[in-house]
Amino acid sequence: MKDIIIVGSGPAGHTASIYSARADLSTLLFEGWMAGGVAPGGQLTTTTEIENFPGFPDGISGPKLMSDMKKHAANQGVEFLMETVESVDLSRRPFKVKTSSREEEAQAIIIATGATAKRMHVAHEEEFWQKGISACAVCDGALPLFRGQPLVVIGGGDTAMEEAMHLSKFGSKVYIVHRRDELRASKAMQERVLANEKIEVLWSTVLVDVGGSNALEYVLLKDVKTGKEFKQEAKGMFYAIGHTPNTDFLGSQITTDDMGYIVTEKGTTNTNIPGVFAAGDVQDKIYRQAITSAGTGCMAALDAEKYIVENPL
Ligand code: FAD
Ligand code: NDP
Repeated sequence: MKDIIIVGSGPAGHTASIYSARADLSTLLFEGWMAGGVAPGGQLTTTTEIENFPGFPDGISGPKLMSDMKKHAANQGVEFLMETVESVDLSRRPFKVKTSSREEEAQAIIIATGATAKRMHVAHEEEFWQKGISACAVCDGALPLFRGQPLVVIGGGDTAMEEAMHLSKFGSKVYIVHRRDELRASKAMQERVLANEKIEVLWSTVLVDVGGSNALEYVLLKDVKTGKEFKQEAKGMFYAIGHTPNTDFLGSQITTDDMGYIVTEKGTTNTNIPGVFAAGDVQDKIYRQAITSAGTGCMAALDAEKYIVENPL
C-alpha cells in the first residue's frame, strides 16, 4: 500500500507528487496514456512556448517544462506508471485504483486529471492548430503573431467574453462568433464586451472551416439565419466553447457540479470523500492556468499529508 496515489501528470499532479515525496510519503503517480486525448505531461505538451510560468524569464517550451517537472518529482523519489486509471473504489480505505493491468492501494488519493478544451474539429483545423488556432487566449493572446491582427473567438459564455476582452488589448479587432442571437455569459461580462469598440459580435453565426497558407489567415463562417457562408480574415481563432473535465473513471463516487467539475470545499482541496483530494483544472473552471494548477497541487499534497497524519491506517 502507498501513502498517496496521484492520478494525472500535468502541473497539478507533478507538484503534488513533489510535495508528497518530500514529506516522506510513499508516492505513486499514474501519468495516463493519452487519457482525455492528452499525452503524459498534460495539456502543456500540446503547446509551444510558455511565457507566464514564473521562473523562466525567456519562456520555456511546454513539453520541456513538463519533462523537467517529471525529472524533479523522480529526483524526490516519486514512482511513475504510464497507465490510465480506469476505475477507483473509494468506498473504504485503503482506496483502490485500477488500470487495465494492475490494482494499487493508498491511504489517500489526489485526483489531478485535468480537463480537455472542446474543439469543433472542422475540416482543416489540425493544419492550423497552434499556427493561429488556440483554446486559451490568456496563454497565447500576447504572442507576436496576433498583435495588431483581426482575431476570432468562438463561443458565447463567460470564457468567450473574458478571452475577447483579453485579446482586444492585442488584436486590431476581435470578432465573437456565437451560434445564437443571445449570449450565455453573465450580464456584467456582456456589458463590458458590448461596450468595447474593438469587439464585434457576429450573432447567429457558426464556424464552418479555417484556411490559410502557412498559418491561419481566415475563418469560413455561416449565418445560420440566411444560410449564407462568408470568409472573415483572422490571424487567430480561439475556441471558448467549454471544457470537459476528465472524471469518467470516478463513476459517481465523487461529487461534481452540473458540468462535471469536481466540487472541492472552499479554500481546500477536500472532495466529498475524506482522504480524496482534487487539484488543477479538474476542479477549476475559471482560472485554468499551469500556475494555478501547480498551486492547488501543492495544496492537495499538504491536505493529504495532514489527513494521513490525523487518520493513519
Ligand atoms: P492537465 O495538464 O490537463 O494534465 C492532466 C493529465 O492527466 C493529462 O496528461 C491526462 O492525460 C492525465 N489523465 C487524465 N485522465 C487520467 C486517468 N484516468 N488516469 C491517468 N491519467 C489521466 N497555462 C498557462 O499557465 N500558460 C500557458 O501558456 C498555457 N498554454 C496552454 C496552451 C494550450 C494549447 C492548452 C490546451 C492549455 C494551456 N494552458 C496554459 C493551460 C494549462 O495547460 C492547464 O491549466 C494545465 O495544464 C492544467 O494542469 P492539470 O495538472 O490540472 O491537468
Ligand atoms: P459555457 O458552457 O458557459 O459556454 C460555452 C459557450 O460555447 C456557449 O455560449 C455555447 O453556446 C457555445 N458552444 C458550445 N458548444 C458549441 C459548439 N459546438 N459550437 C458553437 N458554440 C458552442 O462555458 P464557459 O467556458 O464559457 O464557462 C464555463 C463555466 O465557467 C460557466 O459556469 C461560467 O460562468 C464560468 N466562468 C466564469 C468566469 C468568471 O466568472 N469570470 C470566467 C470563465 C468561466 P450556447 O450559449 O448556444 O449554448
